[in-house]
Amino acid sequence: MTRAPEVCYRRTMNPSRTAKTIRPFLVMDIMEKANTMAAAGRNVIHLEVGEPDFDTPECIRTAAVAAMTRGRTHYTDSLGIPELRNAIAEHYERTYGVTVDEGRIVVTAGSSPALLMAIACLADAGDEVAMTDPYYACYPNFVKVLGARPLLIPTGSPDGFQLSPDRAAGLLSKATKALIVNSPANPTGVCLDTDHMNSLAELPVPIISDEIYHGLVYGSQQHTMLEFTDDAIVINGFSKAYAMTGWRLGWAVFPKALIRSVQKLQQNLMICAPSIAQWGGVAALREAEKDVADMHRTFARRRTVMLAEMARHGFNVEVEPTGAFYVLVNMRRYTADSRAFALDILDHTGVGVTPGIDFGPGAEGYIRFSYANSEKNIVEGVSRVAAYLKTL
Ligand code: PMP
Repeated sequence: MTRAPEVCYRRTMNPSRTAKTIRPFLVMDIMEKANTMAAAGRNVIHLEVGEPDFDTPECIRTAAVAAMTRGRTHYTDSLGIPELRNAIAEHYERTYGVTVDEGRIVVTAGSSPALLMAIACLADAGDEVAMTDPYYACYPNFVKVLGARPLLIPTGSPDGFQLSPDRAAGLLSKATKALIVNSPANPTGVCLDTDHMNSLAELPVPIISDEIYHGLVYGSQQHTMLEFTDDAIVINGFSKAYAMTGWRLGWAVFPKALIRSVQKLQQNLMICAPSIAQWGGVAALREAEKDVADMHRTFARRRTVMLAEMARHGFNVEVEPTGAFYVLVNMRRYTADSRAFALDILDHTGVGVTPGIDFGPGAEGYIRFSYANSEKNIVEGVSRVAAYLKTL
């Protein structure tokens, strides 16, 4: 083989600035380490994970197998199959009494790409995208990958981790092109008050409402941002309430004026959501009501068990969570470096937990526990961590 002359043969595989600076999703790092420990024979309890431990309900799996058998294995319409968009519109009517035109719905490969495309529809490089601190770990990374800048709005336990519309209003500027809200929230498990949702909907900034934990609210009514304004991008999906994390299926409701923009992004970036998963999604919305209710009941029980165990061991849970499957615990008595502390906890106890710093500077010194695990493992895991804390 003749080699090209040196001058034109220059293959440089240096990572871009984006690739170099993007932060790891620490919970994945912890989970991978915990899995390695388990493979080496250690008894590991996963309280770090952000996914249901249940298998996907059978009616959904059956529908997907049928779709595969019938050869529904091709690209679909970039906005999603009509049957699923129709089922999603019905879901809004049934669950919230909100009428959504199917033409505003885009089906996506999980809520993650929906978030990325929503931000890309609203913000250009150099613009600002506002979010709470603590935030869901990936939000600032989506924003930075697009060349935009995260604007953090502090929230804290004295305000129940509620996003204050007044505080948001004081920080927004012309450069702020979107405000991401998340209720129920990861990592706090807090649901936004309806009067806050109402006031946030009136702010002069487009809202992206991440509602992926809907269906996992305990003891109160859940509300979509679409009850307060039609002029928001609302994101949801099948990962959490339907136990479908690996299927990669979500959706977004866009204002009519933006649907062509997101369609172009989807056509270019993803083409469409997985076809077989979409048929599973139709069954999820039309047939899985009982399975979803059973899982909800189990999560509600586990939440009570985890909070009771934490209270018994004197954990500092400042704000009782009412949604998702997380409890955020203040561990500032023990650490100012939650990443190192989470690794210490894993090493000493075999319990995987998530460091608060994954969710922003506002959660440094906190540890997030997930109750997406059996009651037995929750009791054992919390007790092992409590025993370790006593040694410090
Ligand atoms: N938003 C929040 C708040 C999440 O916690 C997660 C998953 N951890 C996602 C979005 C992404 O979920 P998926 O892409 O599986 O729908």
